[in-house]
Amino acid sequence: MLMKKNNSQKHHVFANRDHGKGSALSFLDSEGADLKRLYKEADRIRHIHMGEEIYIRGIIEFSNICANDCLYCGIRASNHAVNRYSMTAEEIFSTAKAMVFRQQTTVVLQSGETPGIDDTEMGEIIRRIKKETPLAVTVSVGNRPYDTYRHWKDCGMDRYLLRFETSDPELFGRLHPDCTLEERLECLYALKELGVQTGSGFMIGLPGETVDTLAENILLCQKLDLDMIGIGPFIPHPETPLGGEKNAYEGNEEMFFKALAVLRIFNPDAHIPATTAYDAVFPGVGRNLALQRGANIFMPNDTPVGHRKDYLLYPGKPCVDESADQCASCVLMRIESLGRTIGKGHGHSIKNHRRNSEHGRHKHAG
Ligand code: SAH
Repeated sequence: MLMKKNNSQKHHVFANRDHGKGSALSFLDSEGADLKRLYKEADRIRHIHMGEEIYIRGIIEFSNICANDCLYCGIRASNHAVNRYSMTAEEIFSTAKAMVFRQQTTVVLQSGETPGIDDTEMGEIIRRIKKETPLAVTVSVGNRPYDTYRHWKDCGMDRYLLRFETSDPELFGRLHPDCTLEERLECLYALKELGVQTGSGFMIGLPGETVDTLAENILLCQKLDLDMIGIGPFIPHPETPLGGEKNAYEGNEEMFFKALAVLRIFNPDAHIPATTAYDAVFPGVGRNLALQRGANIFMPNDTPVGHRKDYLLYPGKPCVDESADQCASCVLMRIESLGRTIGKGHGHSIKNHRRNSEHGRHKHAG
């Protein structure tokens, strides 16, 4: 292992920002003192590029109605055990409005993939939130046509989240009866072309993946030059075709954090959230550890409590019985306990090209 050899070589490896697959695989193989160093380095790079501020982006899971059948997902169309819901535009708006008082500066609007709320209505919701609150708006509702993304951008959408899930086209195909990896990537390129801050990412440990896939996933994030990167462990949901499968790293859960640390080292200036799935695997501490190993964003759940149990993408999702207020104060305590501060501004992308188009848009959005 490159890292295990000697100090000068180690520093050389970390100092080289143009990392390739060999060093990704080597880092993912770290153990003992090398692993500690890997985490320390990820935290140092996070500190240098992203600072001590943790931005809080509240998620509203506004509908679990989904037309797709992704094999891993608890709200897939074929899971008839799910009680389907869709919040009204008014409910979404009032939920978003309440976030302003919880030090949350971005609202993330997420749902299944469906015309549960149609594209025009979605545009109106974006426009209203941008006009009547100071929140930045992130949308996460799956693959959509270019013109829809453009319309939402015109309405004021700041960012979009759409994970590529895995960089292995064959594995992607097996898991997604409704779309190809190529189509997913086309959506990401469209968003980037439109000047929307673009977030993507992947699941760690999908059945059939190898550490090689994991390294390729990290490299794809780097290649896509993403503004935000969300990753999290795959957790089998019993009511899905993968219910009987195991996470590829079962018994080696440390890999979830190694992946995060390497992701930060390879993507120094991307926003990286400590995703909820880390807490599902390591209750109460997963997201804290993620924030100390590369992450700089926290995404509390602002979904009205009555709907939370119906948006179970995977079992063991935390905070299902808590109110948005309880979640919000828990988050503040967690950030304080880490000695970090809460981000005051929007926490937009720090990548220059996107930030510039951001300024242009804000002039119009007011
Ligand atoms: N329909 C939207 C939102 C999907 S849910 C979209 O496609 O973008 C958000 C993320 O949850 C997914 O991208 C996926 O990476 C993750 N997810 C879904 N099922 C999961 C599971 N069983 N374990 C871990 N993560 C899961």
